Amino acid sequence: MFKRTATKSEEASHRANRVKPLAVVVCSYYPQKYRLLTETASQEFRVSGGSDLAAPVDCSVVRACQSREVFYAPHMIVVPARMGQINKRTLLSRLQKMGQGSRAELARLLGISQPTAGRIVDELLEAQVLEEIPDTEIGTESNKSNGRLGRPSRMLRLNSNHPRFVAIQVGVTETRLAALPLGIGNEDRWDAQFATPGTAEEWVAELRRMASRLSSKGLWGVLVSVPGIVDENAGRILFSPNLHWTEKVDLPDLVQQIWNIPVLLVQEERALALGHHAAVPSDESFLLVDVGEGVGGAVVVGGRSYSSPLPISGELGHTPVIGNWRPCGCGAVGCVETLISTRGLIQSFALAAPQQPHTWGALVEFIAEQGLTGWLAEATGAAAAVIAGAVNVLGVGHVVITGSLTELSPCVLEYLEQAVVKGTMWARFGKVSCVSAPRRRTAGLVAVGIDRLVSSLSEKVPGQRLPAVHGRPAVRRSGV
Ligand SMILES: [Zn+2]
Repeated sequence: MFKRTATKSEEASHRANRVKPLAVVVCSYYPQKYRLLTETASQEFRVSGGSDLAAPVDCSVVRACQSREVFYAPHMIVVPARMGQINKRTLLSRLQKMGQGSRAELARLLGISQPTAGRIVDELLEAQVLEEIPDTEIGTESNKSNGRLGRPSRMLRLNSNHPRFVAIQVGVTETRLAALPLGIGNEDRWDAQFATPGTAEEWVAELRRMASRLSSKGLWGVLVSVPGIVDENAGRILFSPNLHWTEKVDLPDLVQQIWNIPVLLVQEERALALGHHAAVPSDESFLLVDVGEGVGGAVVVGGRSYSSPLPISGELGHTPVIGNWRPCGCGAVGCVETLISTRGLIQSFALAAPQQPHTWGALVEFIAEQGLTGWLAEATGAAAAVIAGAVNVLGVGHVVITGSLTELSPCVLEYLEQAVVKGTMWARFGKVSCVSAPRRRTAGLVAVGIDRLVSSLSEKVPGQRLPAVHGRPAVRRSGV
């Protein structure tokens, strides 16, 4: 598939015959290459000026592609023309947040006509991006909510049957992976995991071993959640305070040794923030702060991930705290992460209660009994000051806390919220809230996959060459 470039005579013949193409298939590895599918034949061309793509293209794309088994080819993404690309992207994003919806609802939400929405939905159904929910799964209440008598319109959701993405979480101590469909629940689900080794070679070997447990059929891409400073466009980890070996390797290339499909790196806090927004769409603008082995944050504004001019953002954990002399993995001294991360808290716990086992479980139990002890109040207060500073700069009024702090007695988060509110200017005029939430990493990764691997190529103007990055699919900086 896609190995042969059309000869000049074939190209000329195509033009001379003015065959109306049915579809355009873009190869995500080499977006400058595409294939026009016609009624009777398909030919491949290399785009130079893009004039071919400007030709009228009909929409029955996917059927044509399926009949030729092109759609299922790895690293191929079908881009139906004239399907209202922006509408499609919005529709997919809406459905991820809504869970399910009818054609009529989607048309109303997108502000488009029902026939247009129906056409888009039909194409996405054919592409197995969407699926209709069987009547047996729809409750009576849901049917009533359609407000119609008789047979309700078929409800739709993101396809939940076919795994399309491999999600990988590269954690400091543990790597997890799962094969996920587009339609997943909001709670994290992992199929396999292994202790993150100290070298790239060992990591790839372990990943290969675990990969054999997952289905590899019909996958569209691998989505990798990684800590540290990540240049998502370039697919590089620039700096990883707690996992330095990832800085020295081309992680996407390592993953492609196992799955030869597009690989996207996603900064882990950004994945968590997007996952939270997918699960709680009413939270449109917030700062998410995750505390675990490291401490970091990510910002969502107006339902979209904040796009910073530099490939760094939300690095709250590496803000120095006066009077703190603990060395940090980033090379600095006194970072707030060394106080409030799980490791930092256990270190303080061990000093304050040397007779206790120095484990997270023992610490959780100790705090449940003792309440907010002095050292914990100090660490929480330092974290709150850093968070309040970020809130003051960003101008958001909502903070979402995920990770290990949420496992501690509720008095810790109450103290944190009070201290954050005290340190924020907006709280003097309006409301600043601070809530805890579970980590929804896989939902965030799938949101990125839908945006970049299913939708975003189709947003490009036909004929426009997409910027390829290291042979991987073009991606946009802002993402979802
Ligand atoms: Zn640091």
